[in-house]
Amino acid sequence: MSLPGEMPSPLRQLVLWDIDHTLIETRGVGGDIFKRAFQEVTGKGLTRRADISGRTELDIMRESLAVNGMEPTNELVARLADALVDGYEARRDELGQVGRVLPGARETLAELADEETVLQTVLTGNLRSVARIKLEVFGLDGFLDLAAGAYGDDASDRAQLVSIAQERASDRFGSTFTNDQTLLVGDTPNDIRAGVAAGVRVLGVGTGKTPSADLLNAGASAVVDSLVGVSARVRRRPTGGTGWLA
Ligand SMILES: [Mg+2]
Repeated sequence: MSLPGEMPSPLRQLVLWDIDHTLIETRGVGGDIFKRAFQEVTGKGLTRRADISGRTELDIMRESLAVNGMEPTNELVARLADALVDGYEARRDELGQVGRVLPGARETLAELADEETVLQTVLTGNLRSVARIKLEVFGLDGFLDLAAGAYGDDASDRAQLVSIAQERASDRFGSTFTNDQTLLVGDTPNDIRAGVAAGVRVLGVGTGKTPSADLLNAGASAVVDSLVGVSARVRRRPTGGTGWLA
């Protein structure tokens, strides 16, 4: 309880970042690693592609196997996941040279990392190990509490990842993050729908294939065309009114 004249207690925020096309782009390296892992594990080419936008990795793997005429058994999916992680490990240098950090992403992460009241982590369809490699390659991992994140190997339904991240973050921070204190940032309608289904705020970033206007239509609380200069909007104001993202 705050006494008269005392500053209000800090409002804690949990910020959940999507990775691909929100923070970074692999510019084809990620797709090629998947293609090679698929060939290596199944002995067949990836002739038909699953729609991957905003989906979780295990989900993409199952569909990729199915559309290419194979039974997506747990054993095959697990082998594909291992081959994928090995592929990313082997091609770290290439990923760093060909891929890039999207404009404003590093600065925004750095500014929010300086805020004591903000805990930021990832909510991504990537496998945990792949997410870590991508973030390490581009030097973004230090800004994020990756132990609090939720990943493509935690659940195949992206909306479920929100509560998983909230629970992990609450354990790490020692206090609960409510939906009102949680912001998800992503570039696809699947990101937006996951956040809306979970009941948290969602910031859409028009840096992927989906224009900002379509992200707003999908239910984003707000949209931006890039992450340049957005940390001030993401930070929660310790006042009443319309709150953050206003
Ligand atoms: Mg994305």
